[in-house]
Amino acid sequence: MIELPEALTIARQMKITAYILLAIFFSVSILGCTSAQQQPNDKDDVLFQTSTLDALLEGVYDGDMTFGELKEHGDFGLGTFDALDGEMVEIDHQVYQIKADGIAYRVDNAMKSPFSVVTFFEPDQTAASDEAMDCVQLEEFLDSLLPTKNIPYALKVEGTFAYLKTRSVPRQTEPYPPLLEVLENQPIFEFQNVTGVMVGFRLPGYMEGVNVPGYHFHFLTEDRTAGGHVLECQSQSVTIDIDYTDEWYVVLPEGGAFYEVDFTSQR
Ligand code: ZN
Repeated sequence: MIELPEALTIARQMKITAYILLAIFFSVSILGCTSAQQQPNDKDDVLFQTSTLDALLEGVYDGDMTFGELKEHGDFGLGTFDALDGEMVEIDHQVYQIKADGIAYRVDNAMKSPFSVVTFFEPDQTAASDEAMDCVQLEEFLDSLLPTKNIPYALKVEGTFAYLKTRSVPRQTEPYPPLLEVLENQPIFEFQNVTGVMVGFRLPGYMEGVNVPGYHFHFLTEDRTAGGHVLECQSQSVTIDIDYTDEWYVVLPEGGAFYEVDFTSQR
C-alpha cells in the first residue's frame, strides 16, 4: 500500500506531467493555427459583401466602397454601381459594368459600389453538362451537386447557351426611387447561341434581407462585351465550378442614407 505522502507526490508528479502535456498541446495548436492562417485558402472561403439587399431595395444607391477595396476581398462576384448605374460582374479580378445600353465596360478601382458580393474563387467541386437546361432545370441540377443547402456557394457556369435573357438598370438620380420601381422599366437583352460565363451565388434562406436567397447570376459574354443580370437561360454545354464559402463578412455603410432608411416597413 502506498503511504499518503508518497501518493500525494505521485499525484503531484502526474499533475505536472499533465500540465507539460497540455502546454505542448497548446503550443502545437497555436503553431498549427498560425501556419493555417498563412495559407491563402483561409481568406478564399469568405463571402464578402458591402451593405445589404434590403438597403438597395429601399433606394440606398450611393456607393460606399471602391472597387479597389472590394478587389482586396475577392476576384469573383456580382453587384451594382453608385447611383444604380448598371449590373456588376467580377471575374478573374477584373470588374465589368453592364450599363443600360447592354454593353460591358471595364471598371476602374476608384468607382464605388452600394452593394456587391465577392469572394476569392477557388473551386471545391466541378461538374459538366451537355444537356439542354433552362434556368429552373439548371438550378435543380446545381442543387443535386451540393452537399448541403445551408451554406453559401459561389458558382461559375461557363460554356455555350442556346438562349439567354438578361437585364440591366439605368443610372438613377436623387431622390432615388425604390429598386422595384426602377425594375418596372428595366432594359432587357436577349442572346442566341452565345458563349460566356454566368457568375453567381446560391445563398441559404436565412440570408434573406441581407442578400438574395437562392440563385443569383450575372452573365458576361466570352469576349467580355455584353451581359447583365440573368432572367432566363437555356444552357447547351457548360462546365460548372462550385466554391463552398462557409464564412460571411458584411461591411455596412458608415452613415448616409443607410442610417436614415426605415427597414421595418419591409417586414
Ligand atoms: Zn443581379
